[in-house]
Amino acid sequence: MLDRVKQNFLNDIEKSKDLKTLENIYKKYLGRKGELTKILRSLKDLSEKERKEKGKLANNLRQEIEEVIKAKSKKFFIKSRHVSVMQKNWIDVTAPGKLPAQGHLHPITLVQQEIEEIFQSMGFSIINGPEVETEHYNFDALNVPKNHPARDLWDTFWLKDIDLLLRTHTSPMQARYMEKNNPPLRIIVPGRCFRHEATDASHETTFHQIEGLMIGQNISMANLKGVLEGFMKRFYGPQVKLRWQPSYFPFTEPGLELLMGCSVCGGKGCSTCGQSGWMEVIPCGMVHPNVFKSAGYVLERWQGFAFGMGLDRIAMMKHKIDDIRLFYSNDLRFLNQF
Ligand SMILES: [Zn+2]
Repeated sequence: MLDRVKQNFLNDIEKSKDLKTLENIYKKYLGRKGELTKILRSLKDLSEKERKEKGKLANNLRQEIEEVIKAKSKKFFIKSRHVSVMQKNWIDVTAPGKLPAQGHLHPITLVQQEIEEIFQSMGFSIINGPEVETEHYNFDALNVPKNHPARDLWDTFWLKDIDLLLRTHTSPMQARYMEKNNPPLRIIVPGRCFRHEATDASHETTFHQIEGLMIGQNISMANLKGVLEGFMKRFYGPQVKLRWQPSYFPFTEPGLELLMGCSVCGGKGCSTCGQSGWMEVIPCGMVHPNVFKSAGYVLERWQGFAFGMGLDRIAMMKHKIDDIRLFYSNDLRFLNQF
């Protein structure tokens, strides 16, 4: 009888595959109503001799069953733990890797670089100037009258308690450069400018300009027109529609404005171009004699022209963007398009 129980047990163990089946096997043989338990209980009804003999065999079998189950459950336990760790930390080594996010240049920077390249190819050098300026270079040296409304608190960011301001245009560098360098000269000055004004679709308190200055002995309006129209055709393509109109700036005489057909509406008129179909992109003019005078140049000898294009406007027209504020909103949905 014990032999049959042992054989059944060994068959069951053979087929066991996890901790749960082991538990059932234990119950089947050593549980309260287990097969071996029953035999052990029935020993008391036997004669002393039989009890001694059979009892020894039955107890040996019980010990054997317990040992086998213990060994087997240890094996299953390690295996099950191993499987769960594997499932948790499973890595698909064949999956494509995640690329680290890579930054890129801001659309204004890209446009600036392109403009710089075109002017460099025309013999202009790139000069940088300070963003914090004195009243002298920002206004006086550029022939801006003392009572000019641009000096007003509402247009200029003045630095507290000292005679310094955030430059309102890149033009101060004209004066600074002329002071230290003799003509003939060709420079462009890219940079950030600041104005104390309400922001809307075409105005920001921070914006970018590229100042340009060309001075020589026979520089005329024809040179101004040739350089700026040449630039516009290279930057926007030969089909760009251009128009000139007279304008006024204290540091030019005469002053001009170069306009281009609005790219947002294609010239039909929209809110970006004030319904006119045209955008003023390059304020410019021949350098005012007073500016030469304050730089110490001999008036009869030199002539030149200057311009100060709004980089943000140039970029808006290039990419058909209808709101300048998008450039400074740090919205990646916008920036990632460039
Ligand atoms: Zn328009």
